[in-house]
Amino acid sequence: MNKTSQVYQIFWSDYQKNPAKITVALEKIQTSLVEPVAVKTHFGEPGNNNALRGKIVKPAIGWLINQNLEGFLTDTNTLYTGQRSNTKSHLETAKKHGFADLGLPIIIAKEDDFEFKLVKLPNRYQNLPIYLGKELREAKSIFCLSHVKGHPMFGFGGALKNLGMGGATPRGKRILHASTIGKIDYNRCLVCGLCTENCPTEAIKKEGGKKIVIDYEKCIGCGECVAVCPQKAIEINKEDLEICQEKTAVYAWALVKEKPSLYINYLIKINAVCDCFSSTSPKLMEDLGVLISDDPVAVDQASLDWINRKSGQDLFLEVNKINYQPILNMGEKIGLGTTKYQLQKI
Ligand code: SF4
Ligand code: SF4
Repeated sequence: MNKTSQVYQIFWSDYQKNPAKITVALEKIQTSLVEPVAVKTHFGEPGNNNALRGKIVKPAIGWLINQNLEGFLTDTNTLYTGQRSNTKSHLETAKKHGFADLGLPIIIAKEDDFEFKLVKLPNRYQNLPIYLGKELREAKSIFCLSHVKGHPMFGFGGALKNLGMGGATPRGKRILHASTIGKIDYNRCLVCGLCTENCPTEAIKKEGGKKIVIDYEKCIGCGECVAVCPQKAIEINKEDLEICQEKTAVYAWALVKEKPSLYINYLIKINAVCDCFSSTSPKLMEDLGVLISDDPVAVDQASLDWINRKSGQDLFLEVNKINYQPILNMGEKIGLGTTKYQLQKI
């Protein structure tokens, strides 16, 4: 893809004074949403105060409602045993975090057996099974509201991850995460047990109280053990991680390839880890603002560039030591968007 995409930028101080700037940006974009619109977001794991809240996305939802388009807020259930792993507690979580007061229904997207035809993809992915949330797949357009933050397995998370991993059902998430966690380095491990306390599936355990072992049948590759280990004793299969990122880009592509879609990235409460963690990690920098586009690759690239310019370093690479390029490169390669963009301040 050779085109250059437009990305609209609102500084956080301006957004706080005048949230209607979101409307100004959205009305500059040529892409029009079609009903029913799936508003794909992340309702935030309880205990993690960095994730988006209803009041943050309210101006964007207000714009959608004013378009007189039928829509719904949505996400898929998680693989692990947190508060968003089943529909009942997921809905309660969304309500607790202020998403039930926005004037749209909330639908937790269900498992689905739809068979995607993955033509024109790199060979390795032509037969990739794709399991996306049913209501997301059936929606006629996607309005994707994403929090930008770091991630222990992806380096960072933004629109592409929100679409691809976030759009996958638990069955799809298992396919995406498969085999990313490697061995324990026993020369480093102090058997402190932090990894076992934080593992959502009880896949990592103290064997005989003395040695840490991983049950790969139970492991969902979420990376929580990697993030909490003070000794950096849990290896990641770097090659499999790249594949995981690429597969996530393919899932994102499958979700939006035939649909109009709009993206808002919120660059606030920028921290090192994912919003699925049930604790609040310290902020790495000041709140920057909001980026808006109809291109998920461009909006993510612009988010990274803004963060890196402001922090004076490749921030997420520094803190997470994970190459985040594969998801962007794959997104660009399969025509999901472009890393070339023009930034316009609103
Ligand atoms: S958190 Fe790290 S050091 Fe502690 S038990 Fe687990 S692998 Fe070992
Ligand atoms: S990646 Fe680590 S924390 Fe996550 S399921 Fe596997 S062993 Fe448990």
